[in-house]
Amino acid sequence: MAKVVCVLYDDPVEGFPNAYARDGLPKLESFPGGQTLPTPKAIDFQPGTLLGSVSGELGLRTFLEGQGHSLVVTSDKDGPDSVFERELVDADIVISQPFWPAYLTAERIAKASKLKLAITAGIGSDHVDLQAAIDRGMTVAEVTYCNSISVSEHVVMMILSLARNYIPSYQWVVKGGWNIADCVARSYDIEGMAIGTVGAGRIGSAVLRRLKPFDVKLHYTDRHRLPEAVEQELAVTFHKTAADMVPVCDVVTINAPLHPETENLFDNAVIAKMKRGAYLVNTARGKICNRDAVARALESGQLAGYAGDVWFPQPPPKDHPWRSMPHHGMTPHISGSSLSAQARYAAGTREILECWFEGRPIREEYLIVAGGKLAGAGAHSYSAGDATRGSEEAARFKT
Ligand code: NAD
Repeated sequence: MAKVVCVLYDDPVEGFPNAYARDGLPKLESFPGGQTLPTPKAIDFQPGTLLGSVSGELGLRTFLEGQGHSLVVTSDKDGPDSVFERELVDADIVISQPFWPAYLTAERIAKASKLKLAITAGIGSDHVDLQAAIDRGMTVAEVTYCNSISVSEHVVMMILSLARNYIPSYQWVVKGGWNIADCVARSYDIEGMAIGTVGAGRIGSAVLRRLKPFDVKLHYTDRHRLPEAVEQELAVTFHKTAADMVPVCDVVTINAPLHPETENLFDNAVIAKMKRGAYLVNTARGKICNRDAVARALESGQLAGYAGDVWFPQPPPKDHPWRSMPHHGMTPHISGSSLSAQARYAAGTREILECWFEGRPIREEYLIVAGGKLAGAGAHSYSAGDATRGSEEAARFKT
């Protein structure tokens, strides 16, 4: 019987909800392109309820305990005295969400001698030292596509919010003001702007599709070129590298995974190549952008705005400069954890667990690492290596 350790974010400060803003979720038939939605044999939760926090337990307890497995759920994940560090030692399976990542560093993997499977309830498995997982022969799997559309909606929202100066304008209303000139002195239409995505996979191409009706000029860079028919349909221009693309863009959105090729990609040099007054939106991973280079570029005016929901580490310390830099539109990591997305990744996590316990293969598109190498979505979108360095700093959030 397996010991499953599941790390989830805390419940709401006012307690676990007993009522919701809406009565249900729209029913989807499939993902764009035809990939099927998660297909567990059953679910023990109500779609549209809070599943990603500790009391939601991803709806897994009845299923796991019914089969004789044990489940430990905690939000206490950072530092040597954390519940996670303690429970990990004899865990067979670890589940965590990128929003509140249980960092599985090489040191932690070394301490967890029974650990065979790390499931990302969501997308993006950079919180696992993938090189250490490869060396150990572990399986790392995620729920590919579960929240890609959720994030693409968030990206469009953030681009419009920055360009139109939405957040400061909202704040004038809350403060009791009617300061139109203060609001509009930094407000622009995106019509006619050039917008480029780094990464045109599931999220990046959904962002391109959603932006097309705004009459903007679309650009992308990716290690895999889109089919010619798609490039023509979207009228999108391909660039070999991010550095080649950014000089022509008014807005850049980052939609590639974090791995050794993309870590620190937006450093001083690449940001300096951007147009003065460009907007940068990063919902991919915090470490793809250099923390201090972003803050400096906002202060100097090289960037007119920066928004996103990804930080490093997570949670970021209280004094992280992205909390206080000018012209930012940061949120905690939420874009992929809408109630709609939670229902899909909770079901996908259960599908992966059912396959694992029954000895059936996990869907190829869910795999990041398997059989001692990158596999499935991992082989397509990642390079091997480690991107967890520095994650210990997450423990500082508590102090
Ligand atoms: P995907 O695998 O469909 O697409 C990723 C694309 O990035 C692929 O086309 C890949 O070729 C490309 N890529 C990889 N390395 C690159 C590089 N060096 N330069 C340019 N392109 C590169 O994945 P997706 O569903 O689109 O998700 C992308 C990433 O977004 C995830 O890995 C994750 O980090 C992040 N994400 C964030 C949230 C959130 O809540 N903020 C939710 C889901 C995913």
